[in-house]
Amino acid sequence: MRWLWAGTNKGAELLIPDNTDADTALSRTTHLAIGAHQDDLEIGVIHAIGVCYDTPDKWFTGVTVTNGSGSPRAGKYADFTDEQMMAVRKQEQRDAAIIGKYSAQFQLDFPSKDIKSGKDGSKAKKHDELAQEIYQILLKTQPEVLYVHNPFDKHETHSAITRATIEAVRMLPPEQQPKQLLGYEVWRGLDWMADDKKIILDVSEYIPLQQQLVDCFDSQTTGGKDYTRATVGRQADHATFRESHCVDTATHASYMVNMTSLMTDHNLTLEKFTSDYTNAFAETIRKRNEQYQLHDIKPGTQMARAAANQLFEQINLAHHSRT
Ligand SMILES: [Zn+2]
Repeated sequence: MRWLWAGTNKGAELLIPDNTDADTALSRTTHLAIGAHQDDLEIGVIHAIGVCYDTPDKWFTGVTVTNGSGSPRAGKYADFTDEQMMAVRKQEQRDAAIIGKYSAQFQLDFPSKDIKSGKDGSKAKKHDELAQEIYQILLKTQPEVLYVHNPFDKHETHSAITRATIEAVRMLPPEQQPKQLLGYEVWRGLDWMADDKKIILDVSEYIPLQQQLVDCFDSQTTGGKDYTRATVGRQADHATFRESHCVDTATHASYMVNMTSLMTDHNLTLEKFTSDYTNAFAETIRKRNEQYQLHDIKPGTQMARAAANQLFEQINLAHHSRT
């Protein structure tokens, strides 16, 4: 059932796949994820979608913020107008919500240019409306876990939504806040983070569902971007390259960053939060290079080459004298 969501934008909507009433669908929500574009949630939070799909008393609600108007188009969509493209992308998101048995799916219909800050840091035209709308959704859903784009993501629209979400969740009284705020991967992986700092989620059993869901977004993959393959591949990479000295316990894993402190500590800035992680990463690299400085790399010289050639000749001679 499709409801008009009395949001900022007249094209905003609320879909409830199992046709229950809106109050029930929102209040039963346990996992709420906010994403910029149609397909971001299916790429980034399959663990939440899968857990809710499999568990009767857990419900996933998705919030897709933008209207898809500026999206790239190719193949059969090459000549689509902005209006047609928006309609296609909206329908793709509805299809995913139905297949994934979401409790509810919001599409807030913001043009992404209206929520991105200016290069000089000036506030976006609709930044406040977005933060207030997210706050209203949080009030109505009061999830246990809230997911948003991680603050290291390189897509500017994603960053805008991370910022607005932190602002919105801080408006809630502490007793109505989620237990956890987690940042998920789309336009930048989190494998560089220290292993004891990242949240590692086994998504192996949800891969068939995820493939079905990401495949809904045909308009995005038609241009030659195989997001389904890339998403599943990144998660396979995480499972295998996570730890060099033990066998894989999962075939696929998702990484998340715990952003709960950004929700509870109102004085913590995004700048401080992110630099704690990036400084720790820089320190790891610095220490490793310091450890290997003993064998510091010498500039290449004629003498070094001659010594290497001589050694190789000796080995060759020894080898031939054996045969
Ligand atoms: Zn996106």
